[in-house]
Amino acid sequence: MSEKLKPCPFCGGDAEFKEDIYVQDGDKGSYAKVSCSRCLACISDGGQWFDQESHDLMKNSVIEDWQRRADKELEKVTMFLNRLHKAVDKAVMIVEEWL
Ligand SMILES: [Zn+2]
Repeated sequence: MSEKLKPCPFCGGDAEFKEDIYVQDGDKGSYAKVSCSRCLACISDGGQWFDQESHDLMKNSVIEDWQRRADKELEKVTMFLNRLHKAVDKAVMIVEEWL
């Protein structure tokens, strides 16, 4: 895997990647999963695949989803902190007017 997994958007824990390709009753299947080592939040996919290419596509989409969710959650936290910062500034201004 070339891209480093982003930390868990919910708790900041390390993300772990797991995948497996198996044969069960003659059918080939596989799964790919990115999960948090701390809170177990995860994104996974799996099913029956007949070639390595299908597995790789699924695997890449699982990884992309994890990375995108990490960005999205970070964006939400940043927006919240900006709003909080503005609210604190406003409160400070009001208090300063009283003094
Ligand atoms: Zn977590």
